[in-house]
Amino acid sequence: METIRQVHMMQGRCEELRRRGKRIAFVPTMGYLHEGHLSLLREGRRRGDVLALSIFVNPIQFGAGEDFANYPRNLQRDKELAVAVGTDLLFLPEKEALYPGGFATHVEVSGLTEDLCGRSRPGHFRGVTTVVCKLFNIIHPHVALFGCKDFQQLAVIRRMARDLDMDIQVLGMPIVREADGLAMSSRNVYLAPQERVQALALIDSLRLARRLTVAGETAAAVIIDAVQQRILREPAARIDYVRICHQDTLREMDSITADSVLLLAVYVGTTRLIDNHILGEEIDP
Ligand code: AMP
Repeated sequence: METIRQVHMMQGRCEELRRRGKRIAFVPTMGYLHEGHLSLLREGRRRGDVLALSIFVNPIQFGAGEDFANYPRNLQRDKELAVAVGTDLLFLPEKEALYPGGFATHVEVSGLTEDLCGRSRPGHFRGVTTVVCKLFNIIHPHVALFGCKDFQQLAVIRRMARDLDMDIQVLGMPIVREADGLAMSSRNVYLAPQERVQALALIDSLRLARRLTVAGETAAAVIIDAVQQRILREPAARIDYVRICHQDTLREMDSITADSVLLLAVYVGTTRLIDNHILGEEIDP
């Protein structure tokens, strides 16, 4: 695996690979890799001749008072995992390389970003789309892989790629879960043992919603109420949002269709967890 830190070096290397007819698959991450990230890398390995991974904890997608400084990092371990799944290129820029003095340009997707996570994390998606756009410009991948765990993020990036005519296939990959159902996240390490147990309220409530829809319930309000009640049984849980939306437009829906996605954001202690479920699909494969 080749590690590159400079923007122009990465750009040159990817340009040369493209010229030689290589298909580039790209997985952007903030590191502290887990099986969720590795599932994207494995699929990228299958879809590209060259597999590129970026690790960059992007300061501009964190709000004041969020966990930028404490975000978990373990570069040595990340490198070993990346090599093990066959990564060819690791892009590891410094903050100054991506945001030099005088940096003044941002990418903003309106409509999809103001609500849901955008409401409690103002500016978050503008930071995400700006960095992903920059990474796309540097790497020019043929295909870029993202997790459906960050459902709104995936919708926003798809819209950015479409609206800005980026010739990149944006692929969404299934949520990878721990054996007990908790969606994998680098932030799960923040959970104290008791909180880790209570965090199962998220998957439990998604399963409950699934059972209700399979049984024929179509009223979003009924499902949301049941989900909220389940989550609030946990003393450490505080709901940020529980919403049922159209999976493409993210507009709220009153009744369930095959396009409905149930989206959750819940604080367990001080850790903010997100999860989701497309109501027409199976949760446990
Ligand atoms: P992050 O490092 O948290 O920015 O995540 C990098 C990529 O990994 C994003 O596309 C995430 O959606 C994806 N990802 C994170 N957790 C999971 C998971 N549990 N299952 C699948 N993909 C994930």
